Amino acid sequence: MPSSSNNFRVLVLGGTTEASALCRYLEQEPSISATLSLAGVTKQPHLPTLSVRIGGFGGSDGLSTWLKTHAINAVIDATHPFAATMSQHAATACAATQIPLLRLERSGWQEMPGDTWLHAANLAEAANLLANSPKWNTASQRIFLTTGRKELAPFKIAPQHHYLIRSIDAPDPASLPPHATILLDRGPFDVQNEAKLMQDYGITLLVSKNSGGSATYPKLEAARLLRIPVLMIDRPAACPNIPTVETAQQAMAWLQAHQAASTRRKV
Ligand code: NAP
Repeated sequence: MPSSSNNFRVLVLGGTTEASALCRYLEQEPSISATLSLAGVTKQPHLPTLSVRIGGFGGSDGLSTWLKTHAINAVIDATHPFAATMSQHAATACAATQIPLLRLERSGWQEMPGDTWLHAANLAEAANLLANSPKWNTASQRIFLTTGRKELAPFKIAPQHHYLIRSIDAPDPASLPPHATILLDRGPFDVQNEAKLMQDYGITLLVSKNSGGSATYPKLEAARLLRIPVLMIDRPAACPNIPTVETAQQAMAWLQAHQAASTRRKV
């Protein structure tokens, strides 16, 4: 529970580089009492010195209850661009409790000259393309699959390919397609090593979510250098009408403006 001497209370929904950057600002701001919330997906997350809670809230109702119990004044949704359920729950709970909500989300990657991107709306569509599209299903591809350890099972419908799977923690063996090589590693990565990795494994296709950010961008630069096509999974739709910023610094400015407004209301 945040300290009672800091009367502006903030919940940061985290799990991203941007959330970590915001926490570093908040560590330096004693007039704001912040709690970082993590889903609990990563086994050994980098933790700030702020108050941290881990695990789901129990849907939007559970989150509403938590926000009221902890007298939260503002929420920053800095979850991953693909964490659409959590973002929706935050929007619903903040609307119900009338607590200001800001979305902190880095911009998506853009296709550049030299890139060959195919797009899929979601994981299922990407897997379906690899299983059934005449362009991809005929030959066994050597696929660098970077969608995360929880999102492998859909690719079992395309067992004819070989997959190089990189994730921070080991995936559940039951979720793997039959021909899979596992590589445990955590970014940031650099373009030379990414290119060497793709060459060493004879990669013919990179599958990625459009997560954005710099830490994992070198895989796309390496694919461009090696002329390897990319199957890009587009972001889920954003929650409508939620103010959004791209940087931790902008989120900090938004928080300070709300803190000042809240102080003015009290005097
Ligand atoms: P999600 O599908 O939006 O969330 C599923 C549930 O997890 C939520 O309903 C919530 O449970 C809980 N949850 C999610 N984020 C939370 C947080 N910050 N604090 C407390 N509870 C949280 O999101 P996801 O399962 O985390 O991930 C979905 C996508 O995001 C995947 O593509 C994943 O690879 C990507 N991603 C997520 C993270 C991350 O740290 N969240 C990091 C990297 C990538 P309740 O309903 O019980 O509250």
